[in-house]
Amino acid sequence: MIFDAIVVGAGITGLTTAYIATNRGKKVLVLEKQSRAGGNIKTLKVEIDNKTYLFEEGPQTILANNEAVYKLINSLPVEVVKASPTSNKRFIYKRGKLIPIPLKPWEFFLTPLVSLKSKLLLFKEFFEKPIQTEDESVASFVRRHFGEEFLNYFVQPFVSGIYAGDAQKLSLRYGFPKLWEIQKRYGSLLKAFFKEKRVAPKGELISFRGGLIELIRALEKKVNLLTDAEVLKIKKTDGNLFEVISKKGTFKTKKVIITIDAQTTARLLKPLYPPIEVLKEIYYPPLAVVSLSVPKIGLEGFGFLVPPKEGLKILGAIFVSSLFEYRCPKEEDCFSVFLCGDTQKEVCQQKEEEILLTAQREIKRVFPQIKEFRFRKIRLWKKSIPQYWVGYQRYMNALEGLRKVESNILVISNFVEKSSLAGCIEKGFKVGERI
Ligand SMILES: Cc1cc2nc3c(=O)[nH]c(=O)nc-3n(C[C@H](O)[C@H](O)[C@H](O)COP(=O)(O)OP(=O)(O)OC[C@H]3O[C@@H](n4cnc5c(N)ncnc54)[C@H](O)[C@@H]3O)c2cc1C
Repeated sequence: MIFDAIVVGAGITGLTTAYIATNRGKKVLVLEKQSRAGGNIKTLKVEIDNKTYLFEEGPQTILANNEAVYKLINSLPVEVVKASPTSNKRFIYKRGKLIPIPLKPWEFFLTPLVSLKSKLLLFKEFFEKPIQTEDESVASFVRRHFGEEFLNYFVQPFVSGIYAGDAQKLSLRYGFPKLWEIQKRYGSLLKAFFKEKRVAPKGELISFRGGLIELIRALEKKVNLLTDAEVLKIKKTDGNLFEVISKKGTFKTKKVIITIDAQTTARLLKPLYPPIEVLKEIYYPPLAVVSLSVPKIGLEGFGFLVPPKEGLKILGAIFVSSLFEYRCPKEEDCFSVFLCGDTQKEVCQQKEEEILLTAQREIKRVFPQIKEFRFRKIRLWKKSIPQYWVGYQRYMNALEGLRKVESNILVISNFVEKSSLAGCIEKGFKVGERI
């Protein structure tokens, strides 16, 4: 049998691609290395003493900011849950306190997060002229437009929260393409805000009653999936087909869709197109997600982020019990705490128990009223989120080169263009329609 497409990897990108193409009558096979589908998506559901805890150990929510997400979830038997209305309350940790992130312009002028001097820099920002550069770091862009304090207390915490990354290294062009476009077009972000009425991405924060894994379970039922089927080699045959050699057999296909990490992609595709080896350089920092519960302390909001200058050994935490209902016993509050990332990778060199204790110690510094921790568990990601560093263009050039030589191999992993769940779904949807 000859498949129309073989999808390598059964994370959200691979499953969405296969589902859309299968629905359109294509013969598609998904090959997954692990014994389970989902990739980064890992929902943990535990019952202890008749109490149920539901934590996400990988991605926490989907920011549904494109049509593909709604088309996908509306076509599947999943129960969507929206984040609580208080989830727009987010905090930054400064000098022992959680300070709300200003949501309205006038709140910005009152916030103690940055000094009056930094606030006045906003007036100067209005006169920034467009600059045409190949690329620049997020930090250099923010410093020029808003100053150092703004970088430390607003932007770096967000870069940690989204990419587990370092604003000094992250590319504005690839990490925040919308801002890159705006700066090329208007120069000033404020000017763009007044003209376009919005700079920040919009969209609802959603998940599912049974956690994000519910989406994976629904998708895997609709596709032809082989687990424990690591792909070992991809070869070209005489008839312009590909032979995909996996631990569960060899399969022939017209197209190959790659949705796996950069290092394995480089290894599999190097025999077909040697320059692709450059993908090996793409860095994925380690990230630890610690799930904790404490006797109720009245958490409200989405969670908080920590500027590196504040000296805590955590990147931030999500208030799980406030974000979604039915995730934490009523008499308790639950947190997902994030540690390591590119800026604090040394924390992940400790033993897992020590990382867990670090998370508990730092959460207690933020909430000294906590007397005990009840539920506690750690998930360590040795390779978490791909870092779109300055100079990312060279990887995109290598992929462009591959496209020219082998147009029937498509790489749509999360190191290409978008790494958010919504972005992965959008890419999977587009490619699934095209197969
Ligand atoms: C801790 C963490 C928190 C995150 N938080 C968020 C968040 O809150 N919101 C958000 O939008 N995004 C978040 N992200 C990012 C997002 O989760 C990922 O970018 C996304 O899940 C990637 O999906 P994917 O299908 O492209 O890749 P993956 O999920 O990595 O799936 C790839 C699959 O390929 C398989 N594979 C690898 N090699 C082979 C091989 N040789 N043969 C066959 N199969 C192979 C792997 O086993 C895996 O199952 C987070 C990521 C992490 C790690």
